[in-house]
Amino acid sequence: MFTHAEWKARAAALKLRNQCWIDGAFVPSLSGARFETVNPATGAVITDVARGGAEDIDRAVKVARRAFEDRRWSGKTPGERKEVLLKLAALIRENVPELALLDTLDMGKLIKDSSTVDAPGSAYFFQWHAEAIDKIYDEIAPTGGRDLAMVRRIPLGVIGAVVPWNFPLDMATWKLAPALAMGNSVVLKPAEQSPLSALRLAELAAEAGLPDGVLNVVPGYGQDAGQALGRHPDVDCLVFTGSTGVGKLFQRYAGESNMKQVWLETGGKSPNLIFAAADLDKAAEMAAFGIFFNQGEVCSANSRMLVHADVADEMVARMEARARAIVPGDPLDPASTLGSLVDRAHTDTVMGFVEAGKREARLVCGGERVSLNGSDAFVQPTIFVGASQEARIVREEIFGPVLSIQTFRDEEEAVAMANASVYGLAASVWTRDLSRALSLSDRLNAGTVSVNTVDALSAMTPFGGIKQSGFGRDLSIHSFDKYSALKTVWIKY
Ligand code: NDP
Repeated sequence: MFTHAEWKARAAALKLRNQCWIDGAFVPSLSGARFETVNPATGAVITDVARGGAEDIDRAVKVARRAFEDRRWSGKTPGERKEVLLKLAALIRENVPELALLDTLDMGKLIKDSSTVDAPGSAYFFQWHAEAIDKIYDEIAPTGGRDLAMVRRIPLGVIGAVVPWNFPLDMATWKLAPALAMGNSVVLKPAEQSPLSALRLAELAAEAGLPDGVLNVVPGYGQDAGQALGRHPDVDCLVFTGSTGVGKLFQRYAGESNMKQVWLETGGKSPNLIFAAADLDKAAEMAAFGIFFNQGEVCSANSRMLVHADVADEMVARMEARARAIVPGDPLDPASTLGSLVDRAHTDTVMGFVEAGKREARLVCGGERVSLNGSDAFVQPTIFVGASQEARIVREEIFGPVLSIQTFRDEEEAVAMANASVYGLAASVWTRDLSRALSLSDRLNAGTVSVNTVDALSAMTPFGGIKQSGFGRDLSIHSFDKYSALKTVWIKY
């Protein structure tokens, strides 16, 4: 990989795509409006970007509809679509440094992560969904008699996708890969903080052979471009990753417009249960990763540690040592261990929780905002102990590097505390007791339960939540369910 100086030189030499991508071309927004995208780690403006509004969304949806109806993509065989998307995966791999830089500059994540996790991950997820699409069979119902009842899986049409800024390239990919593999057309609205990698991705998709109009990217603000997509009468399905509050708005938009399908991946407050007989060193190592990776800006971050009272002191000491070893630094320096938060406004929000935590609990370490290279969007890894179940830092999603450690006395209490949340995205359990692990995996309310690890995730397994963490699943063969409908074709002979 590159040195700090080399990454900086590459960042300075980047060619930035900053228009809307509609019908296979970069075009300005119809109003001519633009907005600035800022590097949160320095406060410097990276570029200004076309600010799409309702009229640009309408234009993109019309283009996507035409592309779907004339079957330029939907009419291709699964094998043909697979070839194009495999080519896209290869192009992403060839351009990993560039795509990684775009995300790091836009939202402050470490280049060592964006270049080894996010960008290669995007290539892999495209490859996985491409390879899966020609292995899905339709069904014939066992009607008997002189009937042939086929159950066919068909693409839905025009998909609207609205994604957040925490993994800009990967969140877009989790929607686009299955949607495109299935033969749909897509209009994607990236987050206003991080539009650059999605625009480059669209260009690479065209280079891979995706026909014009099948993928369109409209950067802009949520309240106008995002809302317009949510309310558009000719969008068949809206897929969203983001906050629970905005997820609820998309349900409303759908109800007040054309009743489009809405699939939501939203917030979390994931518990990490540590039992006395666990491997505490490994648990601490993974728990630190689970809450501090990506500055804690992870929907499934293990932001609540529930530890058995007998080992609580040992665990807190281990966590403190790990947290103190993680220090905010320049995201472009491969040696840095913590990047900046996405912007100043979000840093203010996170610090608001930290200040609340100082009143609600005992601060173990961290708790300070850090200024670096002209930006104060950095926050120290922060640990609190002893908060009550009612505390804000225990109930609310912080989306920053802030961990709350609480104690329990027995399994019943642990389960009750873990499940006392409006969210149900992920949970972790650390124990060497197999029957306890299995029983807890039954009882914990979460889309994913990880045992003796945190945040277990792969292209092969579905990802998503229950309760107010949303519904519908990204990744795995099940992700295709969101982007297809079942059609019954019944023939009498
Ligand atoms: P937001 O919900 O604020 O934004 C997500 C997207 O929705 C952005 O593109 C945003 O646009 C858009 N949006 C904002 N307001 C509206 C609106 N009124 N109408 C339509 N669209 C709107 O979330 P964040 O970007 O802050 O992301 C963090 C959240 O995402 C956290 O809650 C996190 O838990 C969740 N998340 C969930 C994941 C999961 O899989 N469950 C994975 C990753 C994150 P813009 O920003 O451009 O204004």
